[in-house]
Amino acid sequence: MLGAKNRLNRQAWLRVYRKTGLLTAISVVLSIVMTNAIMETFSSGINVAGLMVSIVTPLALGAPAIGLVLYKQEQLRAANTQLQKLASFDWLTGCLNRGAFTAMVSQSLSSGSVSGALLVIDVDHFKSINDNHGHDRGDDALKLIATTLQQTAGENAPLGRLGGEEFGIFLHRLDERGVARMAERLRAAVARLAFVTDGHGCPLSISIGGATFSGQTDFRTLYKMADICLYQAKSAGRDRIALIDAA
Ligand code: GH3
Ligand code: MG
Ligand code: MG
Repeated sequence: MLGAKNRLNRQAWLRVYRKTGLLTAISVVLSIVMTNAIMETFSSGINVAGLMVSIVTPLALGAPAIGLVLYKQEQLRAANTQLQKLASFDWLTGCLNRGAFTAMVSQSLSSGSVSGALLVIDVDHFKSINDNHGHDRGDDALKLIATTLQQTAGENAPLGRLGGEEFGIFLHRLDERGVARMAERLRAAVARLAFVTDGHGCPLSISIGGATFSGQTDFRTLYKMADICLYQAKSAGRDRIALIDAA
C-alpha cells in the first residue's frame, strides 16, 4: 500500500530535474577545469578532444547517477510524509488519533491558547448499533459522526478519536457561552443525522462532557474534568451536554 502511494508528484519530479541539471552543470565545469589543469601539466593545455571528453564523461555517467540518487531521495521523502500521516491519523474516521490529538492540544495550550474548551464526546448506546446491525454498519456510523463533528466545529477545531466511540474536540478562543453554543450545535447535528441501515432509520446521539478554561492549564487536567462531565451527562440520560469551568 505504501509503495503505491510512493509515486512522485509533479513538484517532486521538478525538484529531481532541476537539481540533476544543476549538479550535472557543476560537474561539467569542474571536469573542464580539471582536464585543462592536467593537460597543461603534461602538454600545451586542453585541446578539442580533451574538451569533448571532459564534457561528455560527466554528462553520460554523472547525470544518470545523480538523477537516480535524487529520485530515490524524493521517494524516501514521499514515504516519510506518508508514514507521518499514518502515524497521526485514525485509519477509520480520518480524524487525528489519540496521540496526535493529545500532542496538538498540549502544544496549543503551552503556546498560550488563552481561552476555549476540551470536549469529550461519546456516542450513546453504540454497542447496540453493532449488536443490531453489525460491526461494519457501526463503522459507517462512526465515520458519519466524525465527519459531522468536523463539519460542525470547523476545520480549525482539532478533532481526535480518543478510542472506540469516543472523540475529542479542542475549541480555541471561545468563552463559556461560545463553548456551550458550539457543544449544543454538535449534539444537535448528530441527533439530526439520518443514518439508515437495512432500510430502517437508526437514531444516533452523543453525550458531551466539556472543560472550559481561560488561563494556563494542561491536557491532563482538562481531560480529567471533561471526562467527569461526560459521566454526568451519561447518568443524566444521555444525548446531552455537561460543562465545567476548569481554570
Ligand atoms: P454508552 O451510551 O454508555 O456509551 O453505551 P455504549 O454502548 O456506547 O458503550 P459501551 O462502552 O458499552 O460500548 C462501546 C462499543 O463500541 C463496544 C465496542 O464494540 C464498540 N466499538 C469500539 N470501537 C469500535 C469500532 O472501531 N467500530 C465499531 N463498529 N465498534 C466499535
Ligand atoms: Mg458510548
Ligand atoms: Mg465509550
